[in-house]
Amino acid sequence: MNRKINLTIYNENYHEQTNPEVASVYPQGIHGAVRSIFDGDEDIGVIRVATLADHEEILTKEALDDTDVMIWWGHVRHKDVSDAVVEMVRYRVLHGMGFVALHSAHASKPFMRLLGTETDWLRWREAGEKGRLWNIAPNHPITQGLSEFFVVPHDETYGEPFGIPTPDEQIFLTWWQGGEVFRSGCTWMRGQGKIFYLQNGHETFPVYFQKEIRLIIKNAVKWACPLRRNLMVDYGGSNTPPLEKYELEDGDFFTLNPDEHAGAK
Ligand code: ZN
Repeated sequence: MNRKINLTIYNENYHEQTNPEVASVYPQGIHGAVRSIFDGDEDIGVIRVATLADHEEILTKEALDDTDVMIWWGHVRHKDVSDAVVEMVRYRVLHGMGFVALHSAHASKPFMRLLGTETDWLRWREAGEKGRLWNIAPNHPITQGLSEFFVVPHDETYGEPFGIPTPDEQIFLTWWQGGEVFRSGCTWMRGQGKIFYLQNGHETFPVYFQKEIRLIIKNAVKWACPLRRNLMVDYGGSNTPPLEKYELEDGDFFTLNPDEHAGAK
């Protein structure tokens, strides 16, 4: 890619403010840990960071229009996210912006609305169990640099059934110490936008400092980046004349002025 990827990170940043245990794990916030994945990455251009407290000021139309990929982490304050912002995020994904949903973002408004099913439906348990992620798409851009499987020592357990629509691509499958399995890495296309969901990252465990998880997020941002930032700007859903002249049933011809055809420019 010959241009830099503009990245926008949203983190609820609630637990970090209210739970000292979380603040000790993520002293710079989960957004700080995620942002640091891209330190020194020459593929990355502008990085914007928004939290629940300032998301309406940061996540403007201008900022989203200038964003290639958005990362989203939220947990208990999904309902407090502005519907106007959510609609702008949804619109931008449909027009090409990549969207990387982390952990409890399975129940976030933009993820739910983009996927259209009860994606907050799953088994869960905060037991700090070990999870083994199986890399079941070894030829996928998101898994490059990973081996056949790796272990996250402690995380929240999520188990099937998971109320997502059938993924376009299944990237990871997790086995949990307690017996469940979970589709922990999945991709979808919605409109022109690529979406990736990664299950890992409960706030009380330092999961976003683990090298494999950081590599997955880095790879996912590069995979999800659209080739053009505003992909759909030149493609209207408009009423257009045909490209080829043809005879109508009454013997008349459908005349074409190519200059009037949006696609003929
Ligand atoms: Zn959690």
